[in-house]
Amino acid sequence: MGLRPGSAVEQTKVSVVSELVVVALGGNAIAERERVRAEQQVERVRQTADAIVEIVEEGYRVCLAHGNGPQVGSIVLQQHAADSGKTPAMPLDVCGAMSQGMIGYWLQQALQESLEVRGLGAACATVISRTRVDPGDPAFQHPTKPIGPFYGAEEAQALARESGHIFREDSGRGYRRVVPSPRPVEILELAAVRHLLDQGCLVIAAGGGGIPVLRQPDTRRCQGVEAVIDKDLAAATLADQLDADVLLILTSVPGAALHFGRRDQTYLGQVTIPELEGHVRDGEFAPGSMLPKVEACIGFVRGRRQRRAAIATIEDAVAALHGQRGTQVRP
Ligand code: ADP
Ligand code: MG
Repeated sequence: MGLRPGSAVEQTKVSVVSELVVVALGGNAIAERERVRAEQQVERVRQTADAIVEIVEEGYRVCLAHGNGPQVGSIVLQQHAADSGKTPAMPLDVCGAMSQGMIGYWLQQALQESLEVRGLGAACATVISRTRVDPGDPAFQHPTKPIGPFYGAEEAQALARESGHIFREDSGRGYRRVVPSPRPVEILELAAVRHLLDQGCLVIAAGGGGIPVLRQPDTRRCQGVEAVIDKDLAAATLADQLDADVLLILTSVPGAALHFGRRDQTYLGQVTIPELEGHVRDGEFAPGSMLPKVEACIGFVRGRRQRRAAIATIEDAVAALHGQRGTQVRP
């Protein structure tokens, strides 16, 4: 005897298959400003974790991605400051791995506590994640992302000759090394992430956009590269590979705005991909901050009709999942 669609039993069966949300956490989810001590970041992460656990309470399965800008920035400076024969500085890919471990640890501490307080038994774990990038990505010819300490002009020139690194003037404060920001192709730890999610685990992955690696031709080896991957684009790639239902980008503003920062600024509510693409062409979204979020939403939602994406604040996370807050992107 088959179940009648819409019968109580059928409905229970349907609700068991919970939706999968990939949540991308912005910098303000971990530290509200730069140069903050560990305790302050831990405090902020606790507030963030409560918001994430509310999503779990709503019955969603959750995979978390997060940024690492300020954290990897200070790790790079520490490596540089302590560089010696005894403690040689680690390259940028290794610093990225360190930042994933550090932020993942903070999130695990806070999530486990918040889950237990609410009587939820879910486990959580961080997967150190590598993101494959394409060696032919044009970003490798045009490095744009400043990292590490500031140098005077002459010092920067000498370092450039010595190391082959590229240095650029950074907003009048001196010269800084710039590295490429290639587009993510795939998250290599996908199978591990999926396995943990299937076991009911809350997973933290693709932190800081993932550690950029290149697959070496004709071998099985992947090689870390000194580059930085945008975390919103990486979260969208992960969401696409997992075939998630929702991509939720949580940041410091209540959505994507038109005429941002001007008197007539208006936040977008429900918006379709063609509408959003028009606003992108009109230059409404700043590159490096809101533009990658908008591109991430467009790329993810375009993959399959049933998908949705939203950009909202952490406080509005659950309401945004219900389509009531933030910028809601539909096909
Ligand atoms: P995150 O760490 O969450 O990725 P970002 O600073 O990279 O945060 O991006 C969010 C910022 O984007 C906002 O704080 C805002 O200053 C900026 N921004 C630029 N253009 C827009 C826009 N059109 N609408 C909303 N925010 C915008
Ligand atoms: Mg950002």
